[in-house]
Amino acid sequence: MLEMSHIKKRFDDLEVLTDISLTVDEGNVLGIIGPSGSGKSTLLRCAVMLEKVDSGEITYLGEKAVWDGQNGRAIYAPKKKLREISRNYGLVFQNFHLFPHYSVLKNVMDAPVHVLGQSKEEAVQSAMELLKKMGLEEKAGAYPFQLSGGQQQRVSIARALAMNPKVLFFDEPTSALDPELTGEILSVIRSLAAEKMTMVIVTHEMSFARDVADHIIFMDGGVIVEQGAPEQVINSPKNQRTMDFLSRFQ
Ligand code: ADP
Ligand code: MG
Repeated sequence: MLEMSHIKKRFDDLEVLTDISLTVDEGNVLGIIGPSGSGKSTLLRCAVMLEKVDSGEITYLGEKAVWDGQNGRAIYAPKKKLREISRNYGLVFQNFHLFPHYSVLKNVMDAPVHVLGQSKEEAVQSAMELLKKMGLEEKAGAYPFQLSGGQQQRVSIARALAMNPKVLFFDEPTSALDPELTGEILSVIRSLAAEKMTMVIVTHEMSFARDVADHIIFMDGGVIVEQGAPEQVINSPKNQRTMDFLSRFQ
């Protein structure tokens, strides 16, 4: 579904991603863990092309996006291709990023109507189905400020799913939530995994990551320090940096 190869990204003098390569297979869940500042969000933003990479290659559905890293400026795929990528590769943000002046229903159906060209009736129907799936049917007319953080995050998951993405990325989807609201989001993501949704999940919820992921990457300082099967990386890490990081969660 996605292959990133030798990705480098810097912000001025700061090299944030040093040489990242990873593959996301259909129906699999990739978990990404690592300390704050290690480049996890930047990696996700590059993967969905919200951010340009400086060098390396990204392959979407077997098709290469070609980069020209000259002068530190990447030339991305043509506009049409970019739209296709943003449609197929959805990102759920840490802080929900809902439109505050749109109702829940409008938040979910906006992109299907304006980007996919769905009819209003069709978009309302599928948005209501998704809201029902998220347990938010009766909140369709509410505005984001009227919802709990957990409900807002479920709306943003519904919004991402409304585009029918091939891969869904989650950037610390529970870190802005009170602990008692974390569980409802984790169970939504678990049910998507059970439906074989292809996902990439950055999280600090270690036992969740171990349960839901097929493969775990531990990042530190812009590099992949260790990766492998969840039980191996989380229960018996080999690298000292992984051990030090995980010891904070015991
Ligand atoms: P993580 O998600 O693992 O906490 P980030 O990808 O957010 O890490 O950040 C990695 C590093 O890149 C941090 O040092 C951060 O300050 C820096 N950084 C992130 N975004 C920008 C930006 N737009 N401009 C400058 N520096 C940035
Ligand atoms: Mg982050």
